[in-house]
Amino acid sequence: MKIFWFILLAGIPFFAFTQNSGAPAEFRLEKSETEAHLRFLASDELQGRRTGEMGNNIAARYIAAQFEAFGLQTAPGLEGYFQPIVFEAVTPPRTASFTLNKTNYTQGDNLLILTGNADNLKTEAVFVNFGWVDKESGHDDYQGLDVKGKIVLSLPGTPDGQDPMSIFNSMKKKQKLAREKGAIALIELYRLQIPWVFFRSFFDKENLSLADEAGPAASRQDIVYGWVKEEKDGNVQRLQEGKKVKASLMSKGFTRHTVNSQNVIGIIEGTDPELKDEYLLLTAHYDHVGTGKNGGGAYTPQDSIFNGARDNGMGTVALISAAKALSIDRPRRSVIVLAVTGEELGLLGSQYYAEHPLLPLKETIFNLNSDGAGYNDVSYVSVVGFGRTGTDALLEAGVNIFGLDVFPNPAPEQNLFDRSDNVSFASKGVPAIQFVPGTTGFDETISKYYHQVTDNPDTIDYDYLLKFCQAFARTARLIADENSRPQWVKGDKYEKAGMELYGE
Ligand SMILES: [Zn+2]
Repeated sequence: MKIFWFILLAGIPFFAFTQNSGAPAEFRLEKSETEAHLRFLASDELQGRRTGEMGNNIAARYIAAQFEAFGLQTAPGLEGYFQPIVFEAVTPPRTASFTLNKTNYTQGDNLLILTGNADNLKTEAVFVNFGWVDKESGHDDYQGLDVKGKIVLSLPGTPDGQDPMSIFNSMKKKQKLAREKGAIALIELYRLQIPWVFFRSFFDKENLSLADEAGPAASRQDIVYGWVKEEKDGNVQRLQEGKKVKASLMSKGFTRHTVNSQNVIGIIEGTDPELKDEYLLLTAHYDHVGTGKNGGGAYTPQDSIFNGARDNGMGTVALISAAKALSIDRPRRSVIVLAVTGEELGLLGSQYYAEHPLLPLKETIFNLNSDGAGYNDVSYVSVVGFGRTGTDALLEAGVNIFGLDVFPNPAPEQNLFDRSDNVSFASKGVPAIQFVPGTTGFDETISKYYHQVTDNPDTIDYDYLLKFCQAFARTARLIADENSRPQWVKGDKYEKAGMELYGE
């Protein structure tokens, strides 16, 4: 897949440009500036840039200060470069217990209550199948059941899906349904293929989600919600047969609070009188996972900071560098420069922008997103989504001119395309790709740093960082200058969304 002859050609135009002061500004970016950005963003003082924490806000302020220095315009409707986003942070109870007939379940061991506090409630349990109601199809698992004041037990997921995604996506609606029916608790039966310890370590920590726009989440009544790893004592069987089983529940220390973060956005106006009404969207997430237990990986008292130099300090610096180069020598189309928050919590910042765009998505022609797990080969830029949007030749030109080569679609088993912010825009129809530091596959070099406390600024190849940033800026320019717009190739899974968005 490597394209050797491009390497040979790459040196010629590179020297031609660098010796000519008329070359576009990406050729004049300096190693010292890209290095300084990364050393700041990935410093210990920013504490892993966890969404909503001070380090995350300082990183956002730093990016905004760069945009201001470059003279970027603010987006319509905003006073500054911040697009504020309200998150809701939920911490599971510290202690909880659940009794079904004579069997005891204890928080952590075989019980994981995620939300809600309860004193020692004594009531009955009722089995509600999936606990699902679908008005369109008329499906109602609660039909004929009296669950008022009772604890309901359900199968995981919905009648239509029991895979992890369906289970995850149905959690909130199932709680709402149980609450509306008058139940005091909903407990799902743990019948997943994933080991219980993985499930527990994923959920048993502070979890953030986008806040409900209906109003402050704090005023909402929570029912107790969680999971049991059922014991083989016949109780669930009896419930499924419609028999009555006594149950009690206790849960203490659950908290819910509001957390503020922000996307950072600036606009560069295009130079072409017609094409400037079209926007190239550049993105990179600037948040990371924080410190200690929140980081999700191994840590020690000596080093508990997940610095995120690679993930996604490098992409953020590439974004800042492109903002600089494209604001000095403006391309034909306009450019939206968007540093998103909340990526590590589930692509939340980009999802928020895709739902609340500040310029119409219909006029947003492409999303060039920089993200990555790290790098293991500095002769490459890896491109996830290569071959899918008609931009391959522009990508190769943008990358080759800095002596690098394109590595197309590394680690297909990792499903990387759908694991970063580009998917928030692709699913709306905007052609999108991921611009990734040289990764040829997920090997030891990648896993040594990926979401580890070792992802420090001292371990970065700064010669490579400069080239990576230049290649990102150059590629952005080529796409923004090109006569024709990128398009999903025929049969791509996002082609239909694209046709709906652009009305083709
Ligand atoms: Zn990450």
